[in-house]
Amino acid sequence: TQNQLHYLAHFDALTDTANRRLFEDRCAQAIQSAMRHKHQIALIGLDIDHFKRINDSLGHDIGDQFLISLAKRLKESVRKEDTIARLGGDEFAILLANISGREGAETVAKNILENITQPITIKGNELIVTSSIGITLCPNDGNEYPELLKNSDMAMYRAKKAGRNNIQFYSPEMNEEMQRQHMVEQELRSAFQGNQFKLHYQPIIDIETGEVLALEALLRWEHPDKGLLTPEYFIDIAEQTGQLHDIGQWV
Ligand code: GH3
Ligand code: MG
Repeated sequence: TQNQLHYLAHFDALTDTANRRLFEDRCAQAIQSAMRHKHQIALIGLDIDHFKRINDSLGHDIGDQFLISLAKRLKESVRKEDTIARLGGDEFAILLANISGREGAETVAKNILENITQPITIKGNELIVTSSIGITLCPNDGNEYPELLKNSDMAMYRAKKAGRNNIQFYSPEMNEEMQRQHMVEQELRSAFQGNQFKLHYQPIIDIETGEVLALEALLRWEHPDKGLLTPEYFIDIAEQTGQLHDIGQWV
């Protein structure tokens, strides 16, 4: 019973990979060792692309089987001293305990992506599924676990945005972008309260008759500090934060 409890506390029962708790532990140890022995480690964040489609079209059961097969392939793609974890849902994290710089991490990540994109057959269904990968290096990008996890997440998110099925390295400018997004999200909230949205109507005119055929409604934001803003400034963020629906309603 004790063994069982220990297992449940540290592993993900579905994929037999580390869980969040064990992963954090391993990372903390690896960071310490890297600082002491002056080597580098890498933290990789991985999220399956459009995983919902598998669940929706083939059922949750096949989805589960796919997660198991994927975890197996991840294990086969790294060294014994590395750690694979399932952080939740279709999100995995990989700790590379000792790598030779950025190139070393990139080689491993490319290998992982290549391996997991090979077809997997589950109950007669041949599935080819891609994933998006973000990488951060320690000590280059940080030497605390929460920071590194956040970095790899941001890089993974960037990989999604770049069209999925690709690898991105963390860079400090991603942090700035994240902060900007956070700021705009807050600003959007006050834009609603402060009635700062405006519609500009642009007529569409028939050149031959001079008749106004229609009006195009253009959304503008009268920002108290930044002046008149076009949707380019905020539409992406409004979409991600779910605020686009409210804006649409207002329009
Ligand atoms: P994206 O490319 O943006 O990552 O799209 P996605 O469809 O993969 O969406 P996302 O990563 O946000 O969501 C993951 C989905 O994984 C949500 C849920 O339907 C499914 N899921 C989460 N946990 C499990 C699980 O334990 N088993 C199965 N079969 N599906 C799961
Ligand atoms: Mg996903």
